[in-house]
Amino acid sequence: MSLQVQPKDIHVSFEFFPPKTEKAETTLWDAVRRLEPVGPKFVSVTYGAGGSTRDRTHRTVKRMVEETSLTPAAHLTCVGATKADVIEVIDEYLDAGVQHIVALRGDPPEGMGAKFQPFENGFASSVELIEAIRSHKPALGKKFEISVGAYPEPHPDSQGRAEDLAFLKAKQDAGADRAITQFFFEADDYLRFVDDAHDAGITMPIIPGVMLQPNFKGLARIAGLCGAKIPAWLAELYDGLDDDPQQRELITANVAADLTMKLADKGVKDFHFYTLNKADQALATCRLLGIKPRSKAA
Ligand code: FAD
Repeated sequence: MSLQVQPKDIHVSFEFFPPKTEKAETTLWDAVRRLEPVGPKFVSVTYGAGGSTRDRTHRTVKRMVEETSLTPAAHLTCVGATKADVIEVIDEYLDAGVQHIVALRGDPPEGMGAKFQPFENGFASSVELIEAIRSHKPALGKKFEISVGAYPEPHPDSQGRAEDLAFLKAKQDAGADRAITQFFFEADDYLRFVDDAHDAGITMPIIPGVMLQPNFKGLARIAGLCGAKIPAWLAELYDGLDDDPQQRELITANVAADLTMKLADKGVKDFHFYTLNKADQALATCRLLGIKPRSKAA
């Protein structure tokens, strides 16, 4: 691996989550302000399980519209809400000036791994949600940019790769503009997935989702639930570092940088970073991809 950065035509986007406390709010906005000069294509804000962050997600994206130069994308799920409730959220996003939705089915209220049951009078799938966004107030619904989830390692609810791809194609046919992947650690898993997706008729961009979570124990737990593989080499890297958060952060940035540079070498031009509301690792990885923060004067 060479660390000599060659300028490439690369674009990044960042995921944040809405803060719960005042302290978390400060952390989030510090990260937003530090990542803004990198010029991300968009920044997305997650939607808590069961709609638990409806107000906080809304407040966060609204503030991004009002106080930053960023283009926010608001996540939205079908969980624990009637169709009317979800349409209300879409209207709130429209009123706030948000024109990009990350449309997801979501996980059951019991958490990842439990069986998804549609809420009474709710949307039964992400495909239904995408169709609803597209057909809502037709002139407006068509304007929304819609991103969806994709799974280089099959989603736990699917029968395997073929079913996952058929479902992703259905999301594209319903009106999705782009897919963002679940996190993964092996470049080949993503590259094979994209090849198979093309063979299955999927033409929308599939953006790799790159994880920047330095809490390895938490990461391994989530990976187990969402069907993402933790390679043995990754576990080995974090081995013995439970009480050493600084080293874990350095390792995390290196792993992300290595993965993104491998993908960039294969021609991948867009990357979505799961920032966990922290700027340093995302900034370092961007720099290694040849993207530096622009000064205000530039
Ligand atoms: P879908 O793509 O709708 O379904 C997942 C898979 O299940 C499909 O690929 C398919 O194989 C199978 N499947 C589902 N329904 C059917 C059906 N009717 N018929 C046949 N097969 C079916 N969760 C949150 O709660 N909040 C967030 O903000 C959030 N953000 C995310 C962002 C990204 C980029 C990703 C990848 C995931 C995110 N998640 C979030 C997690 C997501 O909610 C879960 O992964 C959830 O289990 C699946 O949602 P989905 O829309 O991707 O599912």
